[in-house]
Amino acid sequence: MELLLIRSCVGFPKFNFALRTCHPDKIKDAMNAFENMMRNRLEFMIGSRLENWQRELSHLKCKYGGIGIPMVEKIAWSAYTGSLCQTYELQNKILFGKFDTGVAKSRLFAVTFAFMEWKTQYATKAKISIDDVLNSKQPQFFLSKYVNEKVREDLLAKHDLEIHHRILLQRCSDDTANWTRALPLPWIGLAMTNGEYRTALQFHLGINVYNKQGVCSCKSKFPQISDKFGVHDTFCTKGGRLVARHDRVRDLIYNEAKGVNISCEMEANNLLDNRDRPADILFANIPGYRRRVCLDVTIVNAFQENPLEKAIAAKKKKYMERLTRENLDLVVLAIDSLGNVHPECLPVVRFIGSKIAEKEGITEAEATSRLKQRIIFKSVQFTAAAIMDRHLV
Ligand SMILES: [Zn+2]
Repeated sequence: MELLLIRSCVGFPKFNFALRTCHPDKIKDAMNAFENMMRNRLEFMIGSRLENWQRELSHLKCKYGGIGIPMVEKIAWSAYTGSLCQTYELQNKILFGKFDTGVAKSRLFAVTFAFMEWKTQYATKAKISIDDVLNSKQPQFFLSKYVNEKVREDLLAKHDLEIHHRILLQRCSDDTANWTRALPLPWIGLAMTNGEYRTALQFHLGINVYNKQGVCSCKSKFPQISDKFGVHDTFCTKGGRLVARHDRVRDLIYNEAKGVNISCEMEANNLLDNRDRPADILFANIPGYRRRVCLDVTIVNAFQENPLEKAIAAKKKKYMERLTRENLDLVVLAIDSLGNVHPECLPVVRFIGSKIAEKEGITEAEATSRLKQRIIFKSVQFTAAAIMDRHLV
């Protein structure tokens, strides 16, 4: 809740008006003071200091994989230039009464100057002109989009990042930030404990969850290093943590489908000739599929090479031929430990979403988006719980 308030209410929005109306060079002290305040609050909430690149990652909008807590210095020129574009004609009218061509031209020059300053900082290569900004309905958002892209590009171009952080930045996406947008609604499962939430934030910003690495007590052929970031714990089988995470996500989808009278069965037996159970949920009918659909939920380690594609390929190799013989289809709902969802499962999610939409009188897009958010949220929550449940030898 505190994160949502800082993002949308008591934080940056309160300062935005000042940024829109004051030249960034004139309010540097205020900007620094505000950023220090925001940074301190964020670090207090996360329970750890942020390196500069982590603060920049947290600045990015969720769409770009961040958590949407803006840095004033990254926003100031977009806010000021955008506001000038929207208001220079009105300012002329207020200041000079009637339209004065000479003054108007000089004020338009001020707009152009601000735009050029913005462009030099954030979009030197982009093919956009001042007219594009003037014609935009929301100039500040139009400009901010380029700043977000630039910040992300600069983060990925950093040479001094360790491999874990580089992979993290590459994997950050709208999906991985999705859970941070959820309002805390415990009655539909959208709530974490403070510890889970903090751990999830640390994991998603590449912050050390633990002070040092150790050896995990899981019974493996070889000793397993339990790393500081908690990555090992997100795929460690000790204590049935992964089974619990998988089952919670499966149960969520099953209960949602049953709740809107979709014909389905959990853990259907005897689909194949041996004891394999390829269907966490067996659907009688999914639009676009001619056969019954086995939905297989799998949650994988995000810090591998192409984890989602590999997981799906492995499942298909294991089951597909035998399932086809039995006149069954397979859809893998693959999520990685950061929350990325492979699009293969979207027809199933959309189908359940469409039925929820009918029942609740909301749009199909909204119902589908909410369901997807709940799936990601549950997966992230139990990933965080697994990290917190670390056991060293
Ligand atoms: Zn382990």
